[in-house]
Amino acid sequence: MFVYADNAATTSVSKTALDAMIPYLTEKYGNPSSLYAFAQDVKEGLEEARATIAKCINASPKEIYFTSGGSEADNQAIVSAAKVGARKGRKHIISTKFEHHAVLHTLKKLEKEGFEVTLLDVHADGVVTVEDVKNAIREDTCLVTVMFANNEIGTVQPVTEIGALCREKGIPFHTDAVQAAGHMPIDVEAMNIDMLAMSGHKFHAPKGVGVLYAKKNMPLFNIIEGGGQERGKRAGTENMAGIVAMAAALKESCEHMEENNARIIPMRDRLFAELSKIPHSKINGSLEHHVPGTVNMCFEGIEGESLLLMLDMNGICASSGSACTSGSLDPSHVLLSLGLPHEVAHGSLRLSIGEYNTMEEIDHIIECVPKIVAKLRDMSPVWDELETGKRKHLI
Ligand SMILES: *Cc1c(COP(=O)(O)O)cnc(C)c1O
Repeated sequence: MFVYADNAATTSVSKTALDAMIPYLTEKYGNPSSLYAFAQDVKEGLEEARATIAKCINASPKEIYFTSGGSEADNQAIVSAAKVGARKGRKHIISTKFEHHAVLHTLKKLEKEGFEVTLLDVHADGVVTVEDVKNAIREDTCLVTVMFANNEIGTVQPVTEIGALCREKGIPFHTDAVQAAGHMPIDVEAMNIDMLAMSGHKFHAPKGVGVLYAKKNMPLFNIIEGGGQERGKRAGTENMAGIVAMAAALKESCEHMEENNARIIPMRDRLFAELSKIPHSKINGSLEHHVPGTVNMCFEGIEGESLLLMLDMNGICASSGSACTSGSLDPSHVLLSLGLPHEVAHGSLRLSIGEYNTMEEIDHIIECVPKIVAKLRDMSPVWDELETGKRKHLI
């Protein structure tokens, strides 16, 4: 049996998204910047996609900018706010330790350019509080960027409250909503969001296309220089097929959100319930504030990488840490930010399921994981020390 349980890394392209993009790969190949009617038809498709996406998050179409993905949107939002801040002599940025690297590495670069960055600790339940943000705010704070939902553990942050605080203090608020878009309701007005990033391939559109939402009057600076596309804020001929597919996929995901989640949540809860029966295991992140499909657990005495390889032999695609860091031997920065010891963080497993998964697939996972964990523990010298009392169990 083949089971794809890595939907937080990427998703398959839906039929709706594929159908939407095909005309733009075939007959509708005009450049939307050209003036003749043949291209104007394409331009119309572009603006329709913009309006569709705006509606899904309660924004105005003028506040939607198409990018090459979530990473680019995060980069542009953060760099823009930093530049505006620097002009006013404000060079302090607040973020969290468990952001995606698209945010963390951008902040690192800004630090080298003289910005001061406060990375908030994450509480053991995987949530940052409004008080944490409030206590970190300074006179010279020019940006708060806190992710909507974490990509490894699936915890959802108090975005609305953080946004309200930032409004009150007059500080721009950006959120990386890549894991939330299409899976949870987003209302940029009600949630006090000034800038937001999303990525098509996390909700059944193709890879390589994303959105930066920037509230009216939020100044943007270009990351990509060139032509005047996207109202001068993002050069490059538009990825038309990707953009229309993303709009179709987001619309579909938002329209079917409740029924999708009603399918996903029981599968997720069954995974949690059954895998928690494995001795010396631990669920990472509070289940109270959670995206529907992400399950993250640690199993003591094993290596997450070995678990992944053996799951792969059983046809199961899963992940330990994020896709971008697997392959490196360091434990996930997200799990460490929760205060997990290195030894425990090493034995992590992320299963992220979507509406295309079935209960039969969940059963297959539930059958395989306990057996594999037991087998790996049998072979593990660390487990031996834990069982003979030479080493203390941490979970
Ligand atoms: C996937 C992901 C990104 C990166 O998006 P790309 O479109 O792959 O560049 C950024 N942030 C989070 C939280 C993600 O999960």
